[in-house]
Amino acid sequence: MLKITKFGGSSVADSTQFKKVKSIIESDPARKFVIVSASGKRNPKDNKITDLLYLCHAHIEYHVDYLPLFKMIEQRFLDIKNELSLNTDIESELAVLEVELPKLSIDELVSRGEYFTARLMADYLGFPFVDAKDVIEIRYDGSFDYDRTSENLKKILVENKRFVMPGFYGRTPDGKIRVMTRGGSDISGSILARCLKADVYENWTDVSGFLIADPRIVKNPRNIEKITYSELRELSYMGASVLHEDAIFPIRKYNIPIHILNTNRPEDQGTIILDNIPEEDDKESPIITGIAGKKDFTAVEIYKKHMSNDVGIVRKTLSVFEKYGVSIEHIPSGIDSFSIVVRSKDVSENIYDIVSEIKEAIHTDHINIADGIALIATVGRNMNSRPGTSGKLFAALGNSGINIRMIAQGSDEINIIVGVENKDFERAISIIYNNFIGEE
Ligand code: ASP
Repeated sequence: MLKITKFGGSSVADSTQFKKVKSIIESDPARKFVIVSASGKRNPKDNKITDLLYLCHAHIEYHVDYLPLFKMIEQRFLDIKNELSLNTDIESELAVLEVELPKLSIDELVSRGEYFTARLMADYLGFPFVDAKDVIEIRYDGSFDYDRTSENLKKILVENKRFVMPGFYGRTPDGKIRVMTRGGSDISGSILARCLKADVYENWTDVSGFLIADPRIVKNPRNIEKITYSELRELSYMGASVLHEDAIFPIRKYNIPIHILNTNRPEDQGTIILDNIPEEDDKESPIITGIAGKKDFTAVEIYKKHMSNDVGIVRKTLSVFEKYGVSIEHIPSGIDSFSIVVRSKDVSENIYDIVSEIKEAIHTDHINIADGIALIATVGRNMNSRPGTSGKLFAALGNSGINIRMIAQGSDEINIIVGVENKDFERAISIIYNNFIGEE
């Protein structure tokens, strides 16, 4: 059994968190390859090291004294080192960094958060340190070169049977450090899981996986035990975020499970994310996997008699939105009408111009603007095999007097989206939860 274990910023925020990481690693010999983010917030008012490093760079760029800020960062690392009585000489490296800071590229500068956190973690765990710039190969276009990364790993594994590696960065073909997008250590873990053919990729964070619904709306919602990548994509799009979205791409086709776990409550079950879940393992799972949603959408409702014979009408309408750079969320349609659903903030400045251009483009007589719409996605891989799911959903909302403004379902039938008034948003989510999962 081979596990890749990645710890997020809050899991390595200070020496207390380092101790939790150590006991997690030591409790399972399969946890041989550890990836860390840069130390994150120790409390809600604290700062993430990566944010401070970006700020340092801004100070340098605007010729403002960056030293006080740099000293704050330095102290965070020194506190961890001293509190854990570690030996790694980060002081000399930090002293060099302090002088060279103005000359570094922004990527190299911000990568130092992960670098020092990993150096300290390697020392504390008694594992070798392996630098991500000697492992992760990033092409100039930002894509990952898995073949070359695997070759690098093969060489490293000759001497090291386990290691700690910083997340978030790698190197481009010219040897320069390149960082990923924010939260990118999740992707580093995933790349390692793929290249080392891991059995599982453990992603340790500060929540016990995903919940079926937002706990600010539903009291004590149940945990999602298993979820597919596609379901997760639907839910993340609607706002549920724990994992970097791109972390699934490196391992998707290998069906390597990602196990989301909580460093502060390691005994919790967490959530397992998989490409597909075999039917025999899915018998106990609920029909719906999760509910998520967002407020503040606008539906531009377009009516025209005998529209169904009018070739090109939708294209002409969409090109108006394209001209204004507005991305489309949904297009529910009827025989002589269709609606374009967009985020309200994307059209707030141009809505009158958009409407008049649509009128001109398709010669319609009637366009209605419906604001204040909330979209709620009810997601579940098991929905398509069970007839009556959407009926149950609509009946539950209807019986509670909630007006459904629109309905959309993706062709893979794992997601039913309903549009309701903003004011009904929270109540609608609670009703769906209670009907499918049950009241606590
Ligand atoms: N430290 C980086 C960030 O804050 C990457 C990560 O945490 O995954 O975005």
